[in-house]
Amino acid sequence: MKKEVLGVYFDDLTREEAAQAGAALLAEDKFHYVVTPNPEFILAAEKDQEFLQVLNGADLVLADGIGVVYSAKIQGTPLKERVPGIEFAADMLTCLDERGGRLYLLGAKPGVAEEAGRRILERHPNITLCGTQDGYFKDEEAALLKVAAARPDLLFVCLGAPKQEKWMARWGKHTGARLAIGLGGALDVFAGKVERAPESWQKLGLEWAYRLKKEPQRAGRMAKLPLVLVKAAGKRLKK
Ligand code: UDP
Repeated sequence: MKKEVLGVYFDDLTREEAAQAGAALLAEDKFHYVVTPNPEFILAAEKDQEFLQVLNGADLVLADGIGVVYSAKIQGTPLKERVPGIEFAADMLTCLDERGGRLYLLGAKPGVAEEAGRRILERHPNITLCGTQDGYFKDEEAALLKVAAARPDLLFVCLGAPKQEKWMARWGKHTGARLAIGLGGALDVFAGKVERAPESWQKLGLEWAYRLKKEPQRAGRMAKLPLVLVKAAGKRLKK
């Protein structure tokens, strides 16, 4: 079931349910894409109609940030739980490993996707890493041709939002992949360049605070986030 949070229609799934839904998409012989919006996406989509359409056109819309879960609750339409994109990606890697499928990593700074791939293969030896490409290409179509030539089943698109979602919606069906996932900075995490918050922080819903502590330069970007909660409260009061 979909639940709307300020214009974005989220799939109301637990992490396990999301993994099952993702596995079903990966088994189907056609292109699908998954988005993992956080509150920053919601605010950006309010001002960018194309981005909003691309988000709502995805096969799965997963609530990546605790801010999304809080907003849904404030609105009176609670979501079951947060489904972090990076965890969904890890579940899809397990699934791909079981099938012995092909993985392509697109995005991040030069060298990062290769290192992420190396580490992923250590854990998932049945996966074929069929290609990597950094995310600072000038020509979108040329980037697509390289991906398509590698014939991936699963594609991680890590270019930051909204670039990665727009790229998937525009070019995804020409890649030949069964499943593409927009994952922001996930390759930096898989490559060991950026650390995720310890589990204790994650459980308290404080992953954002840990990130702010580690990357204080994000303060400007993150300062807007409470706005989403305020807007959700406004919506509830109007009801
Ligand atoms: N990135 C990229 N191409 C670009 C801009 C960004 O590949 O043109 C990468 C960047 O190197 C980083 C990721 O996209 O690995 C986005 O990271 P960010 O922290 O913005 O995403 P978040 O994790 O917050 O969604």
